[in-house]
Amino acid sequence: MVLFDVDNTLTASGGAGMRALEGALVDVIGHAGPMPKVAYAGRTDPHILAELLTRLGRARDAALEAIIMTRYLERLEDELARAPGRVLPGVGALLAALADRAHVAVGLLTGNVARGAEVKLRAHGLWDAFAFGAFGDDAETRPGLLPVALDRHRAATGRHVSAMADVFVIGDTVHDVAVARTHGAVAVAVGTGAPHQERQALLATAPDLFHEDLGDAAALLDALDA
Ligand SMILES: [Mg+2]
Repeated sequence: MVLFDVDNTLTASGGAGMRALEGALVDVIGHAGPMPKVAYAGRTDPHILAELLTRLGRARDAALEAIIMTRYLERLEDELARAPGRVLPGVGALLAALADRAHVAVGLLTGNVARGAEVKLRAHGLWDAFAFGAFGDDAETRPGLLPVALDRHRAATGRHVSAMADVFVIGDTVHDVAVARTHGAVAVAVGTGAPHQERQALLATAPDLFHEDLGDAAALLDALDA
């Protein structure tokens, strides 16, 4: 099983997600406060929204958060219709190579809510490459998403993964590596997201595999085939 993160692993949307969230906050509560640039990379969307509302002095309010997320998704579609961003190097070829391997299940593990991931990937024709996924609205924390992905895969295919060493988690942040570590899966880090200081932190997690981008996926495919 190979589980892909979305933002800065498969695609880069040029900040469309944060702009959409900022706009949704302004639309719903009238202001957004200062938006962090990168501090929330790797977190789940609901976690990011809750943190932003806390910064703005708001108590937790599930109904309000749901309204803001709905507005976020509308704005995200508009943002990506204007500027869809780009698919990162090697993604298309790697997904094609994985699709040729009938024994490999290809899914998503992302902090995006499901509809947000769909909007971001459909903008590039990539959504249908993934048979299943676990999303930001499926668990409180990112590590909690991996069991959800396993369940979704089993429900979709009737097959199950017998060993966690057969699960590869691919992502661009320390949080993606932590998901793999928590569950004994294989951590595959890519250098397409992290700015310099975060690159050091990412490498310090000692991922099982590191690729500057997914254009250098031969070693990953070798590991899968082994
Ligand atoms: Mg990411």
